[in-house]
Amino acid sequence: HPTLPQFPNAPKTTLGLVGGGQLGRMFVHEAQALGFKVAVLEPEAASPAAQAADLHIQAAYDDAQGLQQLAQYCSTFTTEFENVPAASLAKLAETGFVAPSAACVSIAQDRIEEKAFFTRCAPQTGILPAPHAILRSEADLAQVSDDLFPGILKTARMGYDGKGQVRVKNIDELRLAFAQLKGVVCVLEKMLPLAYEISVLVARGADGQAVVYPIAENVHRDGILFTTTVPSPHVSAEAALKTQNAALKLIADINYVGVLCIEFFVLQDGSVVVNEMAPRPHNSGHYTIDACVTSQFAQQVRAMAGLPLGDVRQHSPCVMLNILGDIWFDGEREIQPAWDKVLALPSAHLHLYGKAEARRARKMGHITFIAPSLEQAQAEMQQACQILG
Ligand code: ADP
Ligand code: MG
Repeated sequence: HPTLPQFPNAPKTTLGLVGGGQLGRMFVHEAQALGFKVAVLEPEAASPAAQAADLHIQAAYDDAQGLQQLAQYCSTFTTEFENVPAASLAKLAETGFVAPSAACVSIAQDRIEEKAFFTRCAPQTGILPAPHAILRSEADLAQVSDDLFPGILKTARMGYDGKGQVRVKNIDELRLAFAQLKGVVCVLEKMLPLAYEISVLVARGADGQAVVYPIAENVHRDGILFTTTVPSPHVSAEAALKTQNAALKLIADINYVGVLCIEFFVLQDGSVVVNEMAPRPHNSGHYTIDACVTSQFAQQVRAMAGLPLGDVRQHSPCVMLNILGDIWFDGEREIQPAWDKVLALPSAHLHLYGKAEARRARKMGHITFIAPSLEQAQAEMQQACQILG
């Protein structure tokens, strides 16, 4: 391990972060803006968050010595991705305050637990998950109802950005797809006729105070978030209220502390289905950095540090465009995106995550278009897409 810098005010003013990705980097920036230092536990050498952090402990997320070092510097901890071992968060909770808790994170880590949680709360929220079946072994295939086809087979754990998902039209395709996953526990979900997708960002403090952000409307491409538009062009006042209230009920039910993002589907008949939740700031909440009084990352800092939550008011209509590694490639040739042209658009606010290598489908950054009108933000987003190709 490298020599650790001495912080005069440690440990109270140093926040502990497990994970070194872009969400961590943006968390670090906001924590530092609020006067905190951040120590990051991350095995990779030059990760986005470690580049920005005050201290990088380079060790695996479940490395006992690494966790112990983090605990030496910090008394308050959080995470920036959901697949951090829940046991690591439980370990940190022995010496300090962990937000969100290991128990809350582990619900979101497992689609089966997540759907059971949504179903249990449905009498309060009025919103159910998609019809589904749990597939633990071959034997469970015989029980699958025809009504679930066409469907989507999803691994119960470790799925993100559409990874670990196979679309299946019938039981034969399901059999084949399930066999190819070699005994991994899965969920088969009925394919639903989506009209559009939304997400609801909520935050809750340890004192039970909670706030909910405006509805974000999300467009995915190849299973990866492409754009987020706020205010949502499609959501009805009724669906907005229903999902925001549901998010507040869900976050309170599990005594969650920190930022939580819940994804919903709105179907063609106008009904609402709850899809999944992320126990952390979320890609669809990046717009809050530029368009809201308090960003989702500042809110995470406030929640974990026991500070009052900030105002969620949105001050400008906006569109967030994700930047994937694909735009660094012209066929096989590597190119530099024309950032000068993008930055000439008056509403463009560019965020790059400091990743050394561009790869296809890898999240490299995002641009938030913040304009006096949503139409202008949308038009400039289209222009940026043309420029970047
Ligand atoms: P991930 O963890 O990869 O984000 P999701 O469950 O959110 O997985 O699925 C990714 C995307 O696939 C969704 O945003 C949606 O566009 C589509 N999708 C997922 N489940 C369904 C479904 N049951 N019916 C229709 N589309 C779905
Ligand atoms: Mg999703």
